[in-house]
Amino acid sequence: MSKYWSPLTASLVPYVPGEQPKDKTYIKLNTNENPYPPSPKVIEAIKAAAGDDLRLYPDPTCESLIQAAADYYKLPASRVFAGNGSDEILAFAFAAFFDPAKTILYPDITYSFYKVYAKLYGLQSELIPLDESFTIHPADYARENGGVILPNPNAPTAKLMSLDAIRIVLDANPNQAVIIDEAYIDFGGESAVSLIAEYPNLLVVQTLSKSRSLAGLRVGFAFGSEELIEGLNRIKNSFNSYTIDRLALAGAVAAFEDDAYFRETTEKVIRTRDRVAGELTALGFTVTDSKTNFVFASYPDKPASSIFQQLRDKGVLVRYFAQPRIEEYLRISIGTDEEMDAFLQAVKEIV
Ligand code: PMP
Repeated sequence: MSKYWSPLTASLVPYVPGEQPKDKTYIKLNTNENPYPPSPKVIEAIKAAAGDDLRLYPDPTCESLIQAAADYYKLPASRVFAGNGSDEILAFAFAAFFDPAKTILYPDITYSFYKVYAKLYGLQSELIPLDESFTIHPADYARENGGVILPNPNAPTAKLMSLDAIRIVLDANPNQAVIIDEAYIDFGGESAVSLIAEYPNLLVVQTLSKSRSLAGLRVGFAFGSEELIEGLNRIKNSFNSYTIDRLALAGAVAAFEDDAYFRETTEKVIRTRDRVAGELTALGFTVTDSKTNFVFASYPDKPASSIFQQLRDKGVLVRYFAQPRIEEYLRISIGTDEEMDAFLQAVKEIV
């Protein structure tokens, strides 16, 4: 607390990101990063961009990147927005579309940043309970509200909603924006981008952080109707019109140009995930059906906090949540096969 802080600053409870240890010897399975490096073409493009032109501001319209993302999804560029990571786009979207006079809706177990943004913008939230199997029921979102946000797949539960379920939410909310946060969609889900031509209330948010191995570059996208994209641009240009820097722009464009690399690494992560889920189940864990690059698992005979700590002592970092209903679960990001073998070996020594 400081006398210099505004009442807003004093009221905030900021998000605490997952640990990024300086000690590189940890097997790091705690923040859902991709274990594989970015495409070599991305590195080449960033090196090429790291020259004299850095004295110049980047393109404030991010034209090359927006075009690359638009081409990828076969959309007009007017339906695409690019930002500095999907976290930033979500922050813009909360400001752009959610109504402080009403209550916004999101699941009670979900990405914890939503609560932080709601607080930042003075929005009231209603947290909609997931059922016992952590399923999101779309009919629960058919009530008076000032906006809806759903991650698909959900985090940290890892569970996917069908596009039919998303349609039910969209049909029930013709006058509110519905944001679908697809941070993990490439690991086995079907993107709602295919629905944006049909639903002007739909904003789909994606990121290069997970499936494109570029968490460090901070690039995300939103796809939606022109009116939603225009709303995001209004907010962006009221904060910082040069959101994406020259190096990130160059690297992100190159990421879209190397689809083969993306497909190969994504498939590897999926294969490893399914193997790890199977092995944890065989060890007696309950594991949700993951369509993400992490698994969400609980063990009946030992508290998650103690498994977490024992894994940490053995040099393996995972995540657990001191939160009702999921305090017995561990969230384990999928690493390389070798990393996951070391993780599984450590687990066998603990449980
Ligand atoms: N949405 C969800 C559900 C996430 O888990 C994350 C990653 N923590 C993000 C958005 C943000 O990703 P980024 O800002 O790296 O694009």
